[in-house]
Amino acid sequence: MPLEKLIKGFRKFRSFYFEKNDHYDDLVRNGQSPETLVIACSDSRNDPALLTQSEPGDIFVVRNVAAIVPPYQPDDNYHGTSAAIEFAIKGLKIKDIVVLGHSLCSGVQALSDQADKTAPDFEFLSQWIRIGTPACETVRRLLPDAPPGVKIKAMEQAVILTSLNNLMTFPWIRKGVESGQIGLHGWYFDMVNGELLDYNFTTGQFTKIQNKPHGFSKCAHQDGKCSATWPLEKLIANHS
Ligand SMILES: [Zn+2]
Repeated sequence: MPLEKLIKGFRKFRSFYFEKNDHYDDLVRNGQSPETLVIACSDSRNDPALLTQSEPGDIFVVRNVAAIVPPYQPDDNYHGTSAAIEFAIKGLKIKDIVVLGHSLCSGVQALSDQADKTAPDFEFLSQWIRIGTPACETVRRLLPDAPPGVKIKAMEQAVILTSLNNLMTFPWIRKGVESGQIGLHGWYFDMVNGELLDYNFTTGQFTKIQNKPHGFSKCAHQDGKCSATWPLEKLIANHS
């Protein structure tokens, strides 16, 4: 039954984008030219195209567990997320990168369970979410007595920040940010209240998104070199 629903959905999609509109004519003739890369969690409730009502061709999307960006690590391993990021930057020359995390994230919950040693043993997932360890450890250090819901929310947002910090370890992203060609954004979808928050790089907090996002681009450092990493502590302290 669920697959029949998907097939029916495709018919509806086809009728709108191919029969009633010629949306794909240009996309097929001239190729895609999205200006935004969205790195989102795979969670079925966190679809970036749906959340932002984007059209085909608007956003280049990478989805993985917990919207995690690994650190820059050019070696012989298979780096799916880094490969997609590389193509978006070098091939598509996108202008903005959005890391889109969300509330009730099972990936972040698994990270927390792992720290508690209550997580089931996954072959790949455990190693993957370990990238978020700085977020988990900092929350536990700063909010030892906070209720579990507060801790998890702080962790979910701190994982977004960890991903933003890891993006800056990619030399060609750092260069793009330093020169003002790439903007970085941290977004958090609160699915309980139906709100979208974005990370304010100046105040270090997530707040309800306004018409103009609080992105980060062009480092103000006088020597032109950006050493920006955004402190998890400042973000987490606000959750206490
Ligand atoms: Zn998630």
